Amino acid sequence: MARSIIGGCSCGSVRYECSADPLYMANCHCRNCQRASGSGFVSYLGVPRNALKISGEVKYFEATSDSGNLVSRGFCPNCGSRLFAHTAAVPIMIAINAASLNDPGWYRPAMDFYTASAQPWISMDPALPKFHANGYQTVFRVNDCPENQS
Ligand SMILES: [Zn+2]
Ligand SMILES: [Zn+2]
Repeated sequence: MARSIIGGCSCGSVRYECSADPLYMANCHCRNCQRASGSGFVSYLGVPRNALKISGEVKYFEATSDSGNLVSRGFCPNCGSRLFAHTAAVPIMIAINAASLNDPGWYRPAMDFYTASAQPWISMDPALPKFHANGYQTVFRVNDCPENQS
């Protein structure tokens, strides 16, 4: 049963819809996510890239992660809302920023990534598995994993 993965940006120029269930859901505390979002961490859901339909213009900014992987972050060029992230390391996957969903209420992060750079002014759920870097190995079974990320 596919979740209702429908959402978009603040101004409505960019809309998206995903026909598949999330591959994983996680909070990322890496410095790259912190800088890009201006907040303590980013909550997102990874979905199969070929199941995501996007309408409207998305601008992508490429950055190199601490681990050396290239991560591309997509946002609305009109209102600046952060929407997506993907990396060539895991081309089948694209991450959606959870709060861009029309209904973010069902979203449940299952892991914390990059806890080594988590800020002392946020509190993490102690029940969630913690990874010093990314935890994609648990999801994709590849060593050269995704957004080593952002
Ligand atoms: Zn917009
Ligand atoms: Zn990150």
